[in-house]
Amino acid sequence: MSSDNQKYFADIIVPVSIEQTFTYECTADDFSNIELGSRVVVQFGKSKYYTGIVFNKHNVEPFGFKPKFIEQILDEKPIVNTTQLKLWQWVADYYMSSLGEVYRNVVPSSLKLESETKLLRNPDFTEDLSGELTDAEYLVYEALNYKNALTVAEVSGIISKKNPLPIIKTLIEKGVILPVEEIKDRYKPKVENYIRFTDLMEEEGELQKVFSTLGRAKKQYELLLKFISVKTQTQQAVKVKDLLELANASRASLNGLADKEILEIYSEEVSRLVKPSNDLENQKTLSVDQLTAYDEIKSGFEKYDTVLFQGVTSSGKTEVYVKLIQEQLELNKQVLFLVPEIALTTQLINRLVKYFGEKIGVYHSKFNASERVEVWNTVNEHIGKYQIVLGPRSALFLPFSDLGLIIVDEEHESTFKQYDPAPRYNARDMSIVLAYIHKAKVLLGSATPSLESVFNVKNKKYGYVALDKRYGNILMPKIEIADIKEDHQKKKMRSHFGERLFLEMEETLLAKKQIILFQNRRGFAPVVECETCGTTPECPHCDVSLTFHKNSNHLKCHYCGYSIPMIRKCQSCGSPKLDTKGLGTEQIEDEVLKLFPGAIVARLDLDTTRKKYAYQDIIMKFENREIDILIGTQMVTKGLDFDNVALVGVLNADSMLNFPDFRAHEKAYQLMSQVAGRSGRKGDRGKVIIQTFNPYHQIIQQVSRNDFSGMVKDQLYDRSSYYYPPYYRLIKITLKHKDKAKLDKAAFNVAESLRGLKGAIVLGPDYPSVARIRNLYNKVILIKTANNKDLGSSKLYVKRVFHSFNEVKEYRSIRVVIDVDPY
Ligand code: ADP
Ligand code: ZN
Ligand code: ZN
Repeated sequence: MSSDNQKYFADIIVPVSIEQTFTYECTADDFSNIELGSRVVVQFGKSKYYTGIVFNKHNVEPFGFKPKFIEQILDEKPIVNTTQLKLWQWVADYYMSSLGEVYRNVVPSSLKLESETKLLRNPDFTEDLSGELTDAEYLVYEALNYKNALTVAEVSGIISKKNPLPIIKTLIEKGVILPVEEIKDRYKPKVENYIRFTDLMEEEGELQKVFSTLGRAKKQYELLLKFISVKTQTQQAVKVKDLLELANASRASLNGLADKEILEIYSEEVSRLVKPSNDLENQKTLSVDQLTAYDEIKSGFEKYDTVLFQGVTSSGKTEVYVKLIQEQLELNKQVLFLVPEIALTTQLINRLVKYFGEKIGVYHSKFNASERVEVWNTVNEHIGKYQIVLGPRSALFLPFSDLGLIIVDEEHESTFKQYDPAPRYNARDMSIVLAYIHKAKVLLGSATPSLESVFNVKNKKYGYVALDKRYGNILMPKIEIADIKEDHQKKKMRSHFGERLFLEMEETLLAKKQIILFQNRRGFAPVVECETCGTTPECPHCDVSLTFHKNSNHLKCHYCGYSIPMIRKCQSCGSPKLDTKGLGTEQIEDEVLKLFPGAIVARLDLDTTRKKYAYQDIIMKFENREIDILIGTQMVTKGLDFDNVALVGVLNADSMLNFPDFRAHEKAYQLMSQVAGRSGRKGDRGKVIIQTFNPYHQIIQQVSRNDFSGMVKDQLYDRSSYYYPPYYRLIKITLKHKDKAKLDKAAFNVAESLRGLKGAIVLGPDYPSVARIRNLYNKVILIKTANNKDLGSSKLYVKRVFHSFNEVKEYRSIRVVIDVDPY
């Protein structure tokens, strides 16, 4: 019988950057047991063990080396399905990365342990459960009582087993241990603020006394009365937000009552994860316009796999999505709802959860191990529970088996692109591939779609549906351009506030409405400059100026995190005369506090939201009207829905326009329109004031007229004239090394070889605007090709160039980053 010398092999994806899969041998028994997508433990190199994924099985003996045997099979049922493997292959090929990199990046880390993984005790595990552990498991558990963390290798020593991964896997499943990276970002519950009487007030007759002393503080008196009536009527804890709204009172009045120790504000946890709520809300009845859009989307799907849905801000796109989702649920299909960033989407999530309850699962790369694996496994089982998954770009890689619809909300957002690590994919583009594999449809939604998507509509690749009225026929905000050059000349500026913006702010505050001020992050980092010699302190590891942080009184590098206390004298000439230049949100906050002393002001930027959930807290306070003026960077432009915002101010529009990036104008238009869309969403028409030195700039004019198609026309013309996307495709190659001369030589040689590429334009090598980051010099080469077909052959050519490049010994230490569609 031939089966005597029949041999069995499996090609395994190992989480490394090498392009190929790796062939291992297995026993006949194992061979019949393993399925594609199952996890196996394999030895890699001399002493490393990895959890790998079965990609393929066959009987073809590899040529030229003797394969090792698979150590162990971890899964009876695969954790990755074959449609996912197809998507992985696609992503790896298209973005020129390896299957191992895709695997490493998209599968939750507790499903893919390796030798260096550090393990910690799970703080949720209680001693009394330890009776259920096997001897070996108990040994590991015990060791963690003496030592903070163990590596996989150490566990191997403790239980005297060469391959400890199976035991570690069960320990994680039993909740005894956690891989270390999971523990850094433990899930923190959201808190809501409530009001109650202080203990003092429980005394007989105390309330009576209080009312008589409050006589003169009329507002506080009324607020207290309202509190008592709400409390007695509802017999429930009273939310700060609800009370202030009902009493039409300010936070200051409430603070007054708290200072007098009459009321106190306390907070309680509210679950942030999807909570199976008993009181699901009914879906809203669509307006006539929404219904028309819905019908057009449906007929669009008959002709196209992808439809672009352009609805102006506050047109009620979400309710249209909801109806489309509902339909998929009835067909028993899965739905993927991609959003730019989960942390910036709390409002949307709350709305959807109210409609769909436990059918919707939220996936967040910052969830801890158990939460992420829970979503992964639940989706894998394809039971009714998480039939809808809402998540950021990484949710694309969950184990869906039967998708019917993918919605990409705010499709123009750049957060759908992953820059680091590889694979450097764009989730919006890959959602179209994923839908293709599942024979599903894609809906791209935005008020200000990307030029690429608009271009695809023009070329009849995508269908198109517009919704250009706000829900309830509320008018689009009135956008006014404020020429601050003139205000400067006429000395009418109050620090950075021109006359129009200042007056509007005063009026808005008087009317008890709220204000959002937007300051672009780019180009505005405040720096310190010596008044004597003009020197600006720089980061010793990167070629950038250090940014001055007033609150902490430190100088920081935004590229590498380097930080020193604020200097007292110039490091170059010793002069103590130092000046701060630039205008960050912190400076604006100071100015606003001086100009509007009574107002409560908050900032929403990278600094104030560094702590997990700080963002939600600020948003909640603003929603509760505990904040009058919210100053923010890009973050305030994202899909927020506030009722009471009557004014949006853009402090300086010019910074966005003068940025050296081929998409600067498109981005500026999107940013300004989106932030303007936060104004006047309910009730009265909102106002927007854009401050600029160039009131006649094309983009600013287009924003003020809501002239999206004019913007598209101009921008497409520029793109085609200068050979940029969507007419040309880009591949960006970055080389990095600490030795500048070596880098220069290598980059020159690579660029020369790349110039052999026919039909392509090769630019560079050039230093990027920040030439050195973390002590590594960077050089960039940009390849432009005319269309998709050329893109494919360009990639092959690039691969060949780097293949021979890697043969050169002195270049081996140079880091190469290849980015396809680097925008
Ligand atoms: P968009 O996402 O297009 O900016 P939203 O979906 O947030 O707009 O809708 C704007 C506001 O209008 C929201 O507060 C929403 O609750 C409300 N709204 C939209 N459609 C309806 C509807 N059919 N019935 C009642 N309210 C609606
Ligand atoms: Zn100096
Ligand atoms: Zn630095």
